[in-house]
Amino acid sequence: MKARTFFAATALGLGLSFQAGAYVLDGSSWPEGRTTFHIGIDLKGAVTSPSGIKWNDAFREAAQAWNAHSGFEFTVDTTDPSHPCAGVGSHPQDGFRNGANFYSKKCNQVDDTEDDFGSRTLAVTVSYVYTSKPEEKVETDIFFNEAESWDIYDGAARSRFDFKRVALHELGHVLGLGHEESKPAIMQPTVGDTYTLQADDIAGAQTLYGGSGGPTDPPIRMSIEEPFNGDVKAGISNFRGWVVSKHPLVSLTLYRDGVLFGSLDHHGRRQDVADKYPGYPGAANSGFAFATNFGILAAGQHQYRLVARDDQGNSLEKIVRFQVQRFDDPWVEDDNLVSLDNARVNITGSREIRIDGMSHNGKEYRVILDWKKATQRFDIKEIIKTQ
Ligand SMILES: [Zn+2]
Repeated sequence: MKARTFFAATALGLGLSFQAGAYVLDGSSWPEGRTTFHIGIDLKGAVTSPSGIKWNDAFREAAQAWNAHSGFEFTVDTTDPSHPCAGVGSHPQDGFRNGANFYSKKCNQVDDTEDDFGSRTLAVTVSYVYTSKPEEKVETDIFFNEAESWDIYDGAARSRFDFKRVALHELGHVLGLGHEESKPAIMQPTVGDTYTLQADDIAGAQTLYGGSGGPTDPPIRMSIEEPFNGDVKAGISNFRGWVVSKHPLVSLTLYRDGVLFGSLDHHGRRQDVADKYPGYPGAANSGFAFATNFGILAAGQHQYRLVARDDQGNSLEKIVRFQVQRFDDPWVEDDNLVSLDNARVNITGSREIRIDGMSHNGKEYRVILDWKKATQRFDIKEIIKTQ
């Protein structure tokens, strides 16, 4: 049997840092104890392995094995794959979604020595964290080495590598596990005959995410859906999300850039949340949303911090960091002061439109629009004053 190593990278770009990756923890994990992979795995066009099992199905089984043995909850979506390089270099950002697929090399952000997999690396998991919060993963992507020969099978290792056990291993890195050298484990640095989770792997996952038997129900769950981490906002747009709790909430307080912004009402209809978290009373009416003029904020980085507290003393906090792009004047009353009469429009990418020479209340701007999945429309990505 060839000894091949798995490889755990942790990396960095655009305000995010890569981190390298009995059980060993890699130092970062998912605060909500759950995440979703958006996959459409194919090996040089083939969606099925030589054994007849689809790569997607094996990946899902690997994810479910971790779900079954820890409080973590992976969801695997195959309807809308995310490119693992999304948001890196010239690859358009897709809202910090996790992707996985076979590739001949990694994204262009990795330094020269890591420009391809090398001859001993079967797969690489890249974890993204904010430099300001290195303990919280915000995205992970898995690259399987297309140059190797692959199949899907149980039992002793064969000449083709078993994709499922490698996926199990890489998903362990996604959870926040490092390499285990001393005990039998799927997290051993070298692939071998082990093809299922071992006691040491499970102990590691449970240390991070709690016990077995499915997801643990924390007292409060909450999500800020818009703006999302890394979002760009301009003009009037929404703040929205949802919160559910086992016990009555006594407060839901929003801070913007460290300053109290206000208390949020949270009774909006959210059947999707009720479907996902039926164990929480009131989940069907757990939404919050309001419109706000992002144009009144200074251009640059901002953050919202939302804090929920229940009547038992439990609390949960979520932070999203986003960027504001703006015109000098946040509100123009007279439409005649906004004009494209002298503007030129260019298509600058497959989902990007550049407008040069837009006039806005007496000043001239370049405005770049791009397609944003979260809002399902073209949205402002950049505003640059040119005069
Ligand atoms: Zn590894």
